[in-house]
Amino acid sequence: MSQVPVLASVDTFLRGPLGSFVDGQSVIEAEQPSLAVVDPSSGKPLTELREASPALVAQAVVSARRAFEHAWGSTTPYQRGVLLNRLADLIEANGEELAQLESLSSGKSIHLTRQLEVPQSVAFLRYFAGWASKITGQTMTPSLPSLHGEQYAAFTRREAVGVVAGITPWNFSLMIGIWKIGSALTCGCSVVIKPSEFTPLSLLRLAQLAVDAGIPPGTLNVVNGRGAVGQQLIAHPQVAKVSFTGSVPTGVAVGKAAFDANLTRVTLELGGKNPAAFLADVDVEAAVQGIVQTAYVHQGQVCAAPERLYIHRSKVEAICAGLAERLGQMQVGHAMDEAAQFGPLANQTHHRKIVALLDQARSRGQVMCGGNALPGPGYFVEPTLLLAQGADDPFMREETFGPIVCVQPFDDEEELVRLMNDSPFGLGASVWTNDLSKAMRLIPRIEAGTVWINMHTFLDPAVPFGGVKGSGVGREFGSAFIDDYTELKSVMMRF
Ligand code: NAD
Repeated sequence: MSQVPVLASVDTFLRGPLGSFVDGQSVIEAEQPSLAVVDPSSGKPLTELREASPALVAQAVVSARRAFEHAWGSTTPYQRGVLLNRLADLIEANGEELAQLESLSSGKSIHLTRQLEVPQSVAFLRYFAGWASKITGQTMTPSLPSLHGEQYAAFTRREAVGVVAGITPWNFSLMIGIWKIGSALTCGCSVVIKPSEFTPLSLLRLAQLAVDAGIPPGTLNVVNGRGAVGQQLIAHPQVAKVSFTGSVPTGVAVGKAAFDANLTRVTLELGGKNPAAFLADVDVEAAVQGIVQTAYVHQGQVCAAPERLYIHRSKVEAICAGLAERLGQMQVGHAMDEAAQFGPLANQTHHRKIVALLDQARSRGQVMCGGNALPGPGYFVEPTLLLAQGADDPFMREETFGPIVCVQPFDDEEELVRLMNDSPFGLGASVWTNDLSKAMRLIPRIEAGTVWINMHTFLDPAVPFGGVKGSGVGREFGSAFIDDYTELKSVMMRF
């Protein structure tokens, strides 16, 4: 197996020095603690960068506010669309560099960064850019009768909220960053984004590309560091909105901090324990293929990936046998190895958590396939399939965010709906069947922000995405994002 050669530009970037990107330029605070970025495929340090100081976080917000009030705030919607499309062009032109930075720091296969993350980032950004010139208010006729013959007219305006603080996780740093940056800039907001401390590189590179595209300095700032940097950002009085993607406990803390700071509005895209249901009529090969393609992609570190499989009892044996065969054949390897189908977990902390869960599963006798840590270097484990020990099995209740999928047989559809909804989460869910009537009847009964039929984890910029219950607050994509990044102002006139 051979690894993709690292581009000279990636090598130069990694040599640094690296820190944050504020007011249109790279800022390295030499006196600040350094943060190691580790290649999860080898467990070795890749580079390091300086964590942003509280003063730099404040400077980034002030710079973003200035851009919001002046340079970015005074661009026309048409110009915003043009500039965002130009940034999309630059992402495309520098796609291999961004893909390599992302794969090296996250352990995501180079296939996935080349074929999904980078092209999707471009597609989402272009989608948002198209909205820039189409954000409108409404006109309405006031309803109360006039007393003295005077008349009234009213209309609403959609006004950008101001500075948006984006906080992102480590699984799809570039793409999730683009979801936040694209939404905010399209609406006329400016951004300070804090990437995950594990994967800070691609957004740092993106910030420079934004300036190269002609987006005014200060419009997009990147501050790097751990959770404390996120906390400082949320607490800043000039932050008008927080857009967070990450785990439930951090999301709850972020929501509370934003509320305490300034009643700051929040979008929370959180975790899931997503169910996939396979009805009695399902085609076994299609089911196996669908599960391999969605549950194990990026080693299961995908928020909407299915982790709970409810399979009709008549199909459990065949589907599990098919899965075990396919998973056993998966080629495990370095993220930069084009032949590898399954890479490392994203970081050592996460690896420790998943290894402990696999130990538990083995000791409980649940493993149907996989179930072991793999020897290093790097943070590798086997793709794993478990059999549930009842509805209260922790593997059917708690998000693992790893390649651990748990199967529970069901007998009838009433039981299925009860099991699928018996979860504090509600991000995504899927139903696999060729019986259209059954699918249509199940859709409204499933508690999830997205229900897929005969597919799973497919995200499209035109289709709103977000969670119900403990999986979050607010929606991204579609036109739904506009509500979250603009204030509705009402205007009334007497004549
Ligand atoms: P995490 O919650 O640990 O961290 C997310 C981000 O929050 C990081 O940038 C981190 O530095 C920052 N952070 C940590 N503590 C903070 C604090 N107190 N205040 C402000 N910021 C803080 O999540 P993770 O481990 O990076 O990502 C995995 C989680 O993200 C999983 O639960 C997954 O389901 C979820 N996720 C959800 C979606 C979605 O769209 N719903 C997408 C991807 C990942």
